[in-house]
Amino acid sequence: MKLNKIERLKKRFSPYAYRERIHELDLYNLSEDDRFYLKNYGIYNIKLNEEQFMLRIRIAAGRITLKQLQLIIEIAKRYDLELLITARAQLELHGLSSSNVIKVWELLAQEKMLTLQTLTDNFRNIVTDPYDGVDIESKIETYDLIEQMQNIFLNKSEWMGTLPRKFNTAICGTLSNSVHFFGNDLFFALAKKGEDWGFNLYLGGKNSAVAQDADIFILPQNVSLMFESVAKAYRVYGLRGSRSKTRLFHLLDSIGIEAFVKKISQFYPEKIESKGQLTLDKNAPSPYRVLKDGSYGYCYQSRFGVIDLETWERLLSFAVDKKLQICFGVDQNLYFLGLKEKSVPFNSLLGASNVTACAGSHYCALSLWDIKSETSYLPLKKIEKYNIHIGFSGCLKGCGRHYHCDIGLVGLRTNTYGKTQKAARVYLGGVYSRPGVAARLIFPVVPLQHLAALIEKMIESYIKSDMEDFESFSETYLNKFSTEFLMMWFLASLYLKEEIYLQPCSEEKLYHQLEQYPDFPSFKEDDKYMQSINIMKHALWDDTIHTS
Ligand code: SF4
Repeated sequence: MKLNKIERLKKRFSPYAYRERIHELDLYNLSEDDRFYLKNYGIYNIKLNEEQFMLRIRIAAGRITLKQLQLIIEIAKRYDLELLITARAQLELHGLSSSNVIKVWELLAQEKMLTLQTLTDNFRNIVTDPYDGVDIESKIETYDLIEQMQNIFLNKSEWMGTLPRKFNTAICGTLSNSVHFFGNDLFFALAKKGEDWGFNLYLGGKNSAVAQDADIFILPQNVSLMFESVAKAYRVYGLRGSRSKTRLFHLLDSIGIEAFVKKISQFYPEKIESKGQLTLDKNAPSPYRVLKDGSYGYCYQSRFGVIDLETWERLLSFAVDKKLQICFGVDQNLYFLGLKEKSVPFNSLLGASNVTACAGSHYCALSLWDIKSETSYLPLKKIEKYNIHIGFSGCLKGCGRHYHCDIGLVGLRTNTYGKTQKAARVYLGGVYSRPGVAARLIFPVVPLQHLAALIEKMIESYIKSDMEDFESFSETYLNKFSTEFLMMWFLASLYLKEEIYLQPCSEEKLYHQLEQYPDFPSFKEDDKYMQSINIMKHALWDDTIHTS
């Protein structure tokens, strides 16, 4: 197999050895090769936006000390930077330039805040439940296990940039939570076998795929050993040809999960045990949580990862004053742990705990939308009321996790319905809080100004179904139908202006119901409902007025 360009680069010069060159770089004139190497040190820059740099700070399990946070805020203020919480519970400093990025990078390193291996072909920040170890439903505290795993690879020459592609890891030791981890390459999911609590192993998740059950149970004391064994098997056997087919997912796709488990066993000295009983459950996000010691946790909802510096200072001084611990979640929110009373001097932001949004055009040059502002176009009240989870990405890379949510959105621009305007792809059917399936693309192009009406129809259908949550609605209703049928059905519900709702019956039966409406554009021979779809979508969305 011919190695891809990045692999050839790594063979010529190791990412670990590149550290020596960083201080000699002309940051005003970087090559693509330099950009790859810098990513191994958490320094991000792309050709599309050569002036701007970003630093990503690794925060194991999302736990940060107040002293570390204070220092990061001071740096952000001194250099006029923005500070964001990412969907892997880390922090990013945005707004850096060629003149100050290395200085800031060094300042962070001096204080032991590492940006190492937070980008490109590395083990990314290992994530867990923000209430890890302190929740009344916590069975295994995972923080120490995360540190053990991190110690295997962090700042080690044999691991820096040596994987075929990025590798996301999650571990959860709490019985019920409102986060979702099956989109990770490796997920240790809380499980019980006999009297023992431990973890079942899931492998091969990514932004567009759910991790598969490896049929392996691991006791807590063997977690780091298993992590290292999986990592070694991936490093040795991972695909390094076409860059778009190098994630662990692609190796499993090519050889099968059983064959990969055999490869893991080459590196794992213990006996591999078959899986236990998965014990993860889903709960609805709520602002307060009762903790084991009788104190409370509070979720401060950021504006989809964004918090201005003044607010950061207020949050920090509140934590210092009340002697609280701070933790970041993969929902891009900030958690206070240890509150004596159920009250805080902050207001909640509408929809923030229900929407995961990627950085967007303000922070990422690949985005066609300012995602974090565009969320205001969503029916946020309903989304929050019915606890719908939205994943919103600025491009198909999928940092907003649009495949692992109830309703997934990807921003784009289109001239399909007239002048060029903002629009979104819409995904449905994700089953993400338990072993399930990734969402499917249902609508390739919906004009932004019509998105809220369409999403409201979807939510109404869910409410009528009486299912306990949208995920169950997806499993029992949405995923029984073809993508074309769902597109046709939701368009019909807008086009006919009638109260029609999905039922768990055949497509033929539901189509026959639509035919009873005189205005429904039905055709005797309509391959995949495309004629009906075309008539309705253009009638609804053509000649839109607002363009940008
Ligand atoms: S999804 Fe695309 S636009 Fe959004 S942060 Fe990721 S790469 Fe950038």
